[in-house]
Amino acid sequence: MDFISDIDRKDIKDISVIQAELLKETVFYLYKNSPFYRKKIARIPSIKCIEDISGLSITTKEDLQIDNWGFLCVPKNNLSEIVATTGTTGAHVFIGLAKKDMDRLAENEKRCFSYTGATPDDLFLLSITMDNLFIAGMAYYSGLQRLGAGVIRMGPHTPKRQLELIHSLKPTGIVAVPSFIIAIYKQAEKDRIDLKKSSLKKIVLIGEAIRNADFSSNTLGKMVEKLSTAESYSTYGITEAQVAFCECQCHKGLHSHPDLVYAEILDDAGNTVKDGEIGELVVTTFQIEGMPLLRYRTGDMTFKISDRCDCGRTSARIGPIIGRKAQKLKIKGTTVYPKAIENILLEIDGVENYVIEAYTGDDQADHVIVKVGSLKTQDSRLKTQDLKDAVCENIKAKIRVTPQIEIMLPQEVEKILYEGGRRKPMTFVDRRGKS
Ligand SMILES: [Zn+2]
Repeated sequence: MDFISDIDRKDIKDISVIQAELLKETVFYLYKNSPFYRKKIARIPSIKCIEDISGLSITTKEDLQIDNWGFLCVPKNNLSEIVATTGTTGAHVFIGLAKKDMDRLAENEKRCFSYTGATPDDLFLLSITMDNLFIAGMAYYSGLQRLGAGVIRMGPHTPKRQLELIHSLKPTGIVAVPSFIIAIYKQAEKDRIDLKKSSLKKIVLIGEAIRNADFSSNTLGKMVEKLSTAESYSTYGITEAQVAFCECQCHKGLHSHPDLVYAEILDDAGNTVKDGEIGELVVTTFQIEGMPLLRYRTGDMTFKISDRCDCGRTSARIGPIIGRKAQKLKIKGTTVYPKAIENILLEIDGVENYVIEAYTGDDQADHVIVKVGSLKTQDSRLKTQDLKDAVCENIKAKIRVTPQIEIMLPQEVEKILYEGGRRKPMTFVDRRGKS
């Protein structure tokens, strides 16, 4: 089968039939070519419909870490690119892409950009990393090329340099992580440049969710929207699956590309949950030659929407990522993800930085301490107790839990953020199960 560019507007039943065919094809291909899956698949299962996928075994990140090259289905010298996961947990995983996989990656992103209304007339500033084995920069670049749009391959250089290029080259769109967009706009404010009058019409945001579960903009999303008149689009990519889900102009979830990926949402026991119910996102890749994946656990929590979108597309969507499965906290019976607490902290005046620590209490239950770094309490513009109360009340009002709050100096919080010589700050420190 080849890429089906109009698949997202086909009848839902027809999509299911196509996906069942693609699944059959993938399972057979893996059985024949992947040393890892050859061991896992004792005999080719009978697949009559896409739902039969639930009978197949799960693949985990650990599997990839332990037997990384056992997943490879083509000779190594046939690979066009090797990328790696960022490795937030455990060892890096390498993903090899064959030539056709590069086409698939470009097709995926071309569709994502076209969902934002982008056309060959657009010119995008790519303000994300293009090297260091990252897949995203390359994916967006090739997607824009396939669409026929123009690209300014900038990378995450200083906000000042981005502003210079926005001024001189007049791009119509920009691709960046939300926090970097905010940094660019803050620099513009400092330099008295009114970006609302700039050429930018579209902001494609990667890496962090900008919507709440009801699709309204979260704190990060609101910050971006407040700064700009350009329209923001959220995307969510999975390196291992060489795929991205993306928002259309309705902003009601992230569309999948049915001929490239199949998404399932599973509960803790591994059962499929109903549409709209939160569970772990598990993906199966279609039409990959290098390292296809069967039912890969992403570790990300979200929900699925199978109905037709207001934009008319019938491709299944996922909601925003609400947190990592491993970071799920159960506080007095309420399920909370650190991301939800972070979103609240971002909004509170006087909060310079923060770290959320979880530990197991004497009662064997999860407990949380939110350590807030603030300078304002030092120069007595704000009383420590008032800030503490504000943090506590905001968290309680929004997620119905009352964590312990500590107000500290920003440099003290900084130390915890980089504990153990980390290169990237870790805003959630999980000390559960450790004494
Ligand atoms: Zn849509």
